[in-house]
Amino acid sequence: MARSRRPLIAGNWKMNGLRADAMNLATGVAAGVKRAGWTDREVLVCPPATLVMAVSEAVKGSGVLVGGQNCHASVSGAHTGDISAEMLGDAGASHVIVGHSERRTDCGETDTDVRHKAEAAWRAGLLPIVCIGETLAERESGRTLAVLETQLKGSVPAGATAAKLVVAYEPVWAIGTGKTPSVAEVAAAHAHIRRVLTGLIPDAGALRLLYGGSVKGSNAGELLAAGDVDGALVGGASLKADEFLAIAKAA
Ligand code: PEP
Repeated sequence: MARSRRPLIAGNWKMNGLRADAMNLATGVAAGVKRAGWTDREVLVCPPATLVMAVSEAVKGSGVLVGGQNCHASVSGAHTGDISAEMLGDAGASHVIVGHSERRTDCGETDTDVRHKAEAAWRAGLLPIVCIGETLAERESGRTLAVLETQLKGSVPAGATAAKLVVAYEPVWAIGTGKTPSVAEVAAAHAHIRRVLTGLIPDAGALRLLYGGSVKGSNAGELLAAGDVDGALVGGASLKADEFLAIAKAA
């Protein structure tokens, strides 16, 4: 039976990659995706902003999508060092990650900032991937579901629909640590997220919910098979074409 929500496997390269290595990675992913000929899943790579244009050129015709890792909420102006959603689109991006926990922590981004960035993505014709997730302290104090609900209510813009938004659940303590929640914990978090989204958007049942946090080739199968998981946001393992393609295959 065809899945109603087409899985999305997204690679977040973070602040990694000079041109030569990034081109090898991009062409490796592109060749694998082209060879596989998948029409039942989407594969996205999110390189550093300096490489969005070059990677977009390198993957052209392969089916691989390209996204940014962050954007400013404004179209243009006096924001030294920032990049607008329009600029990402102009460089070839179709998606943008907003509200990644590293930006929430490193740059103090709030739910309101994330909401404005998601709106900026829409303005520029990009699909925002809104990231949410609890810290270890929040999990250990039993606040995971409440934290996710607060983040969703603050970060998802009014007017969102399944076609205009992707949500990524990324427990902060699982990012880059090699630790993951159990499959049951992932399924419970995703079911809760979808329940909360039901009160926020008209077609929450069709919205794609990604899991992120130490996904690799060897655990992708079980994590992606968890209830309500429609793909993965992958950090470290997206920096190796074979590993990333193994995750995409597991979807
Ligand atoms: C991420 O940063 O979005 C992420 C999930 O990283 P990792 O896969 O390395 O845990």
